[in-house]
Amino acid sequence: MSSAFAYRSSIFHAEAVPVPRIAEAYGTPFYCYARAELHRAYDDLASALQECGALICFAVKANGNLSIIRSFAERGAGADVVSVGELHRALAAGVPPEKIIFSGVGKTRAEIDAALATGIYQFNAESIPELEVLNAAGATLGRKIPLALRVNPDVDPRTHAKISTGRKATKFGIAVEQTGQALAAVQQLPQLDLCGIAMHIGSQLTAIQPFDEAFGVMAALVAEWRAAGHDIRRLDLGGGIGIRYAEETPPTPAAYAALVKKHFSGLKLQIAVEPGRFLTGNAGILVSRVIYAKRGGAKNFLILDAAMNDLMRPAMYDSWHDIVPVQAMPGSAVEHWDVVGPVCETSDLFGQDRALPALQSGDLVAFMGAGAYGASMASTYNARVLIQEIMADGDLFSLIRRPVNIEEQIAWDTDPVWVR
Ligand code: PLP
Repeated sequence: MSSAFAYRSSIFHAEAVPVPRIAEAYGTPFYCYARAELHRAYDDLASALQECGALICFAVKANGNLSIIRSFAERGAGADVVSVGELHRALAAGVPPEKIIFSGVGKTRAEIDAALATGIYQFNAESIPELEVLNAAGATLGRKIPLALRVNPDVDPRTHAKISTGRKATKFGIAVEQTGQALAAVQQLPQLDLCGIAMHIGSQLTAIQPFDEAFGVMAALVAEWRAAGHDIRRLDLGGGIGIRYAEETPPTPAAYAALVKKHFSGLKLQIAVEPGRFLTGNAGILVSRVIYAKRGGAKNFLILDAAMNDLMRPAMYDSWHDIVPVQAMPGSAVEHWDVVGPVCETSDLFGQDRALPALQSGDLVAFMGAGAYGASMASTYNARVLIQEIMADGDLFSLIRRPVNIEEQIAWDTDPVWVR
């Protein structure tokens, strides 16, 4: 549990703010982030990577709230984006275009045009057809495309299958054996300035060996491509550093940085990394209120006002989040609860047989480790509100995203205006 979220006199706090105060002010459910924890995570990684001179490009997909992006941008971070929407978010948060990397397997021509017009740092191309579209966009705008090829090193990241991208059976990157073909294509496409090589083998990596293996593949390719006459001056190592949700022991920033040094020091490469989860995961919680404590039958169910549409990870990845009562109840008997939301899906299940006190309707609980891939993956399924986000800073707190209520959502729909 991160130190930014802790009990003080039996009440769970976000920094120095009692969580019930926020619930009173804004209602539930809500995400709450600790500003100091965002900064601490960034500073830990930045100081470990300082010697490598690496540019940290926050992976906006982990959490696209402007205040979150800005909390890194104000410390010098760039951004890794995978859609024009994320590009606009990063720019709106004040990330300079020359620190933005555009990743993703399916960039459309319109997205490429928009990014090129702003003058971003780099496009990470993931296929040969994409190279042709990038070249055409460069020709139309009269610009050279700063290009890295994302290579799929075919390394098992040893993480959940649904967030594993490093094996060549996934859609990501260009297979090592196809890189010769990609380099030949680049030579025929005059608007492309092939300056870099990129990788990203998966998310929530808790072992260091897959990074070691993949970095080895990258270092060999840099040498090979340079020997073939390509001026490779940039290296993008992607994201993936895991965090502790339960008992994991992910690589420390120092261990990760030591590996970067081991493989790449002396190669004169401008290094970028794209962490998402590491920077925000443990800096956020989701706070929810018990609607009903439904006892009996085969199980006890704690039915919350947060649901799978607010925090998708357990339903999608079977992921674990610690769930804690906001008011500590040290004297209470421990019961076993299936913690669920109100959505009409059996997968709307946050945790099974969780040992928690005898909670009742109206009590508050907090989900730990909800700062990454929480709010950014939320949906309006079951016509539910997109929930609010709060930032805590010392003893202050502020709304940083207002809820999108049902009236607004109804206004998204239009009556048909038929055309042929
Ligand atoms: N970079 C790319 C290309 C990604 O696809 C992702 C997420 O999967 C990330 C960076 C961020 O990963 P993480 O949040 O695990 O650091």
